[in-house]
Amino acid sequence: MLLDYGCNKTRDSALSAKPLTILEFEARSALAAITEIDMIENGDPEARHYWQAKQLENLLHHACARSAFWKRRILSKKITAGVLKFMAPLSRADLMRQVTEEGPLMQAPSSEKQMAYYSSGSTGTPVKIYVMPQNARYNGLRSLAQSFIHRSDFRLNRVQIQILDGEQTLQGKSISVERADSWLGPLAPIFESGHNKNIRYVFDRPDALADELLKDPTGMLVCPGGHLDNLLSFGGVDFLKRSGVRQWIQFSDGKDAERDELLHSVGITTSASYSSAEVGPIGFECARVPGHYHVAHSNVLVEIDRSDAVAFGSHQLGRILVTHLHSYASPIIRYDIGDMGLLLARCPCGHEGAVLTEVHGRRKMFLNHPDGRLLKFYFVAKVFRDIVEFSEISFRQTDPQRILLQLKRDNALTEDEERRLRELLSHWIDPVFHIEVQIVRDIDWRCNRKRLLFINEVV
Ligand SMILES: [Zn+2]
Repeated sequence: MLLDYGCNKTRDSALSAKPLTILEFEARSALAAITEIDMIENGDPEARHYWQAKQLENLLHHACARSAFWKRRILSKKITAGVLKFMAPLSRADLMRQVTEEGPLMQAPSSEKQMAYYSSGSTGTPVKIYVMPQNARYNGLRSLAQSFIHRSDFRLNRVQIQILDGEQTLQGKSISVERADSWLGPLAPIFESGHNKNIRYVFDRPDALADELLKDPTGMLVCPGGHLDNLLSFGGVDFLKRSGVRQWIQFSDGKDAERDELLHSVGITTSASYSSAEVGPIGFECARVPGHYHVAHSNVLVEIDRSDAVAFGSHQLGRILVTHLHSYASPIIRYDIGDMGLLLARCPCGHEGAVLTEVHGRRKMFLNHPDGRLLKFYFVAKVFRDIVEFSEISFRQTDPQRILLQLKRDNALTEDEERRLRELLSHWIDPVFHIEVQIVRDIDWRCNRKRLLFINEVV
């Protein structure tokens, strides 16, 4: 990666006019950090393993010295990287207990604010953890490093979209737009680049989003798959093309090969990152082998816990455990992130580093078949809209053989409508499930804040 700018151009004023200086301090620091990240993630594996082991030992020493909670979990008196595999996985409830009982284990410097981070709790209770200002800086730089590693075209505009649910408001407005001249942060003075837009809109106003997207060529669109599906059901892939989308960068939810194919068919490239609110980046999708995520070695260690493996298709998936090497305020060590996957020692593309694949999101997004298998809930809301009218729809697995379907609408269903809904579901899922249909005035989204179409309440 080093010094390969691809098609990108340095600004005429990029270099410093001061004596004995080439780059101003901030840009120079950012480029140095990006080079460091590249050395760890794409460089010599032995050097990487040494660095990671030392970082892990530093974190374990810190946690043991500052926390009774962690002292109890780190059983060994001699702390080395090798003790990790003997430690019990950390559940979400464990993490919340440590945070509540002990607070932050490291304070931010007096010049900076101590930060707390609240995960969205999209599929359960929100988690509060403490983070250091360095964590936010790392996350920004890691994201920038990916643009170099992927040889992105910096001249494209970058647009990130976020959907707000009914409880979040925009002072009565449907949409808010934050705009900056560049998305390169500390490297903005160095490289020519497109603008950056962060758009938030309330979930039932995709039309407001569409109007905003048509104002400038979108370039890079950054959002979860669910958000993109909303846009696709509003205007189809033609709308994305018309609004100038050239690349879609997916985060936060699972890959869908059909959706990617649809985008590729109109010349839109796709890539994905795998991350979590608690630890930041975990992996970035390989540019050559779709669905394989090069682990973000400069941030995390990843393991797979096979003690509770489940069959999905032809694979046995284990729980993904993540250790965040820079989690000094609220240590995150062997954290069960709630997702499942496979870990390979290297990527089929030749990359010499661990790779996650078959990452299938949280178990809450799968149906549990009574025979122990997991089934993916493949539907999108449009399939049901073709049969009945409703303003909102929700599916929940409420016990091993029962699925509750709720529709927000004013009138009862006709017998024929209800029969067709049941037939559609039974045919595509499995007749073993009993399907209960309820018509409601309001759907209770408190345990499903991202309004996912399906949630499993059994796991
Ligand atoms: Zn690869």
